[in-house]
Amino acid sequence: MGSGSQKPEAREARRRASLFHSGFWLLASGFLLVATLQFAYSQQQNFDNVEIKVLPVQGNVYMLVGAGGNITLQASEQGVLLVDTQFAQLSDKVLAAIRKISNRPIRYIINTHYHADHTGGNEKIADVGKTLNVGPGANLQRPTATIIAHINVLNRMSAPAGQQAPTPSGAWPTDTYLTAQKELYFNDEAIEIIHVPAAHTDGDSIVFFRKSDVVSAGDVFVTTGYPYFDVQAGGTINGVIDALNRIIHIAIPKHEQEGGTYIIPGHGRLCDEHDIVEYRDMVTIIRDRVQAMVKKGMTLEQVKAARPTKEYDRRYGSTTSPRTTDTFVEAVYNTLKTKK
Ligand SMILES: [Zn+2]
Repeated sequence: MGSGSQKPEAREARRRASLFHSGFWLLASGFLLVATLQFAYSQQQNFDNVEIKVLPVQGNVYMLVGAGGNITLQASEQGVLLVDTQFAQLSDKVLAAIRKISNRPIRYIINTHYHADHTGGNEKIADVGKTLNVGPGANLQRPTATIIAHINVLNRMSAPAGQQAPTPSGAWPTDTYLTAQKELYFNDEAIEIIHVPAAHTDGDSIVFFRKSDVVSAGDVFVTTGYPYFDVQAGGTINGVIDALNRIIHIAIPKHEQEGGTYIIPGHGRLCDEHDIVEYRDMVTIIRDRVQAMVKKGMTLEQVKAARPTKEYDRRYGSTTSPRTTDTFVEAVYNTLKTKK
């Protein structure tokens, strides 16, 4: 999700950014469009007043909250591992926050997906770091932190030879996977990087820290609004629900769904299983309603008028562009309508 601070100056910047965005809609298409908009959006935001707050979560895992996606940090003897890096403009502040927790080298960055509010800091932060991979295939000219992501993240950040890439090559993942899951053992902890297909995008990973008992969810789970899925980048409502169920399957509560496994959402506050179950139920109910309306042959206008999100709008609804309740209903409708 590309949403940042809700402060008035940010709102003005956002308004200007969304006007700026609309001019582009007619000119470009597909992925390039989304990448361009996100870049423009991040350029227009004012990051001067953003503070990076550090929250110890559990075990060796911390949550860093600033603007853009939440960062998950795991640190111990072997060094520092990050999940996502927020906007490029915040990298100095993020690095300062990391140093409050650990002075060890930054070894790994895992990207949950390609959006600029999660990968913008990749280049600068990886450059400060130092890879543990010194075996065959290692780039000893540039021994920066290893950037791990699903292969589709690299595909969306880079471009075929001869074409202009949407992001600088120093920000690209250096270690990609295209299987269902990638495993890592770091700082005395097993870490599962799990691909959740066609959810927020086509390249989403959730990251499970087994020993610390924390899941970093990326944007398949946000507490700040209805799920946003990037249809242009292969996102679907059913994929989001599958991803939420996958996290619920991993999570084990301490007592009556409270405590136990903690879940760091892509945006918003720290959660436990109870929170994500509630969210999954809400999303599933809305999906089922829209599905039934699609089956009846209702048009998009009719579905919107029937307000399938009604009782949830006070908690999750938004009339602020670009992520309004209407655009959410529209995305749900469109992915269900075109589903074979
Ligand atoms: Zn996102």
